[in-house]
Amino acid sequence: MERVLITGAAGFLGSHLCDLFISKGYDVIGMDNLLTGSMDNISHLMSEKHFTFYHHDVTKFVHVPDKLDYILHFASPASPIDYLKMPIQTLKVGSLGTHNLLGLAKEKKARMLIASTSEVYGDPLVHPQHEEYWGNVNPIGPRGVYDEAKRFMEALTMAYHNYHGLETRIVRIFNTYGPRMRVDDGRALPTFFSQAIKDQDITVFGDGMQTRSFCYVSDLVDGIYKLLLSDYHLPVNIGNPKEITIKQAAEEVVALTNSKSKISYKELPVDDPKVRQPDITKAQKILNWNPMVTRKEGLQLTYEYFKKNLK
Ligand code: UDP
Repeated sequence: MERVLITGAAGFLGSHLCDLFISKGYDVIGMDNLLTGSMDNISHLMSEKHFTFYHHDVTKFVHVPDKLDYILHFASPASPIDYLKMPIQTLKVGSLGTHNLLGLAKEKKARMLIASTSEVYGDPLVHPQHEEYWGNVNPIGPRGVYDEAKRFMEALTMAYHNYHGLETRIVRIFNTYGPRMRVDDGRALPTFFSQAIKDQDITVFGDGMQTRSFCYVSDLVDGIYKLLLSDYHLPVNIGNPKEITIKQAAEEVVALTNSKSKISYKELPVDDPKVRQPDITKAQKILNWNPMVTRKEGLQLTYEYFKKNLK
């Protein structure tokens, strides 16, 4: 049986990855310090024979007994309001945490996949964003703590690959949504759902003309799994290239939920990227991966989750 360590296991993406690896017959160790994650996301796994939970902060030395075949590093505050509130933890988990896990991977001769992000492209001057674009990041702006932690994480991972010959994979994750996002994590879709369900004003930042491209979580974890098992060590974008304005996203949520909410325009946060759309040519060619879930289907599934969890 192959054994995988998933950090950030109690978070949105980490918990979906735990589900995926359990369903595929792996022995899974989920690790989380519960800074932003919640045991609710993995409580259904606790009775699984092949799931073990470690309550641990990966910025401290990480010890795992016995063999490990794969490590997936998904621990980090990941929403803009979280990393604004926890700037130092965000920098530490991307740097010290990644260093500890790369050391563990080297010791165990495990393959390590890191969760990088479209934020490495910053407020992009190239559109859509392909993997060869170096990005436009403000290192000292409010988002810099996340963006630079993730850029450092990529650099450190490539150094372990080049210097130690470690097997590594880098996924650049674009906006993703679905069940288990925190209602209060501040990101656009969970915020809009929670406001729409309560008939409160929908807070659209700026004029709402900035764009994002939203990927449903099952598509994302499928792409990550394919990347892990591929033999490609350079960064790969995984995301859904269907791009919409934030205003349109708000309108779609209002229509889907039959809400009486009106849009209320608020100030645009500093360094908020104006556009974002993944170029997924690489994932299509190398992984034979394509997102399958339409926004209509994905938003419906997400709505059902929030309806249940907001009451
Ligand atoms: N946004 C918004 N209202 C909200 C939350 C977010 O208009 O209540 C906007 C935000 O300014 C950004 C986009 O929605 O332009 C996506 O924001 P999110 O926090 O989901 O993620 P980002 O892509 O910025 O990391």
